[in-house]
Amino acid sequence: MKKKLFIPGPTEVLPEVLQAQTKPMFGHRMKEASVLGMSIINKLKKVLETDQYVIIWTGSGSLIMESSIRNSVKKGVLNTVCGSFSDRWHKMAKANGLPNGKIEVDWGKAIKPEMVNTELSSGKYDVLCLTHNETSTGVMNPTEDIADMVHDKYPDIFILVDAVSSLTGAPLDVNKFDVVLTSTQKCVALPPGLSFCSTSARFFERAETVQNRGLYTDFLQMKKYIDEREGQTPSTPALSLYNALDFQLDRILEEGMTNRYKRHADMAHRTRAWVEEHFEIFPEKGYESLTVTVGTNNKGVSIADLNKKLAEKGLAIANGYGKLKEQTFRIAHMGDLKLSDIDEVLGAIDEILGH
Ligand SMILES: *Cc1c(COP(=O)(O)O)cnc(C)c1O
Repeated sequence: MKKKLFIPGPTEVLPEVLQAQTKPMFGHRMKEASVLGMSIINKLKKVLETDQYVIIWTGSGSLIMESSIRNSVKKGVLNTVCGSFSDRWHKMAKANGLPNGKIEVDWGKAIKPEMVNTELSSGKYDVLCLTHNETSTGVMNPTEDIADMVHDKYPDIFILVDAVSSLTGAPLDVNKFDVVLTSTQKCVALPPGLSFCSTSARFFERAETVQNRGLYTDFLQMKKYIDEREGQTPSTPALSLYNALDFQLDRILEEGMTNRYKRHADMAHRTRAWVEEHFEIFPEKGYESLTVTVGTNNKGVSIADLNKKLAEKGLAIANGYGKLKEQTFRIAHMGDLKLSDIDEVLGAIDEILGH
C-alpha cells in the first residue's frame, strides 16, 4: 500500500514528477544531453541564487561529500560532529587517509562559531566541514554565522557544507561557502540517485594542487565536461532523473524561493507546536530544524507500533536515528508537502494515541 512519507528522505514524490522520468531515452553524448544538462545547471543557479559553478553528480549526496574532501584537504580537515550525518564527514576523512580532527557535542546540541574558532586557532587545518541540518537530531546549525567568523579570522580555510536535508527547503546563502551539496531525494522531492553542489572558483584552483583526487570523484573532470562539452559529464549520468529534475526545477521556480521557504517554515512551526503540546522538542532551543522536527519520546510510546498504525492509514513518520531509536521520533516536513499534509499526519497520530 502506498504511504505518504513524512520521513527525512526519500520524501514524497508527486506523480507528475515520477512521470517526467518516462520520456524516451537519448545518448549522453548527443546534443539533447547538453541542452538538458545546461538547462538544469541554469535553473539551479536561480534556485540557489548564485553565480558560482553548479555541478550535478550521479550518485547520492555522500558522493559529493567524499569528492569534496578528496579535492581540497592537504593539511587537515576539521569535522564538526553533532549527530550521525556530521559524523559521516569524519568517517570519510579517515577512510580516505586524510589528516583530520573533530569537535564533538552531545546529540541534540548545535555547533557554535566559538567552538570552531577555538579549534581552528590551532593552525592544524585547511578545510572545515559543516552540516547545515543534522537530520539525526533535528538540529539546524548556525552555519552562516560560522562562515562569517571563518571569513573574518581564517580567510584561507575552505568550507564544505552538507545541506542534504535542508537545501531548497530552508534558506542558506551558498555564496558564503566553497561547496554546498545536497541530494535530490530530500527537499527537492525527486527519487534518489542524483546530487548537486555549488562550488566556488577558488575551490577548483585548490583542486589543481591536490594529488589523488580520484576519477569519478574529480571536480576538475566534472568542470571540464561542463565547460568543453556544454553540461555533459565524464561518465553516463542518470538521464531519466535529469528529466525529472528539469521538470521539478520549473515547479520550484514557479512557486518562488520566498514562498517555498515560508511553506517549509509554516510546516515546521505547526509541527513544533504540536510536539511541544504532547511531547518535548529534542534539539537545543533556538536551533530547531525547519525541515525535520525531532521530538523526545517522553511518554514511552512505542514509535514502531505507532508507525504500524499510521501505515494502516497510508502514512509514515520516522523513528529516532541510530542510538536515538524509540527515544525520539522524527517528522519530516520537506519537499512538496503542504500544511494540510502536516495536519493530516498530526491528526492521525492524535487519533491513534488518544490525544
Ligand atoms: C540523508 C543525508 C545524508 C546522506 O545522503 P545520501 O544522499 O543518502 O548520500 C547526508 N547528510 C544528511 C544531513 C542527510 O540528511
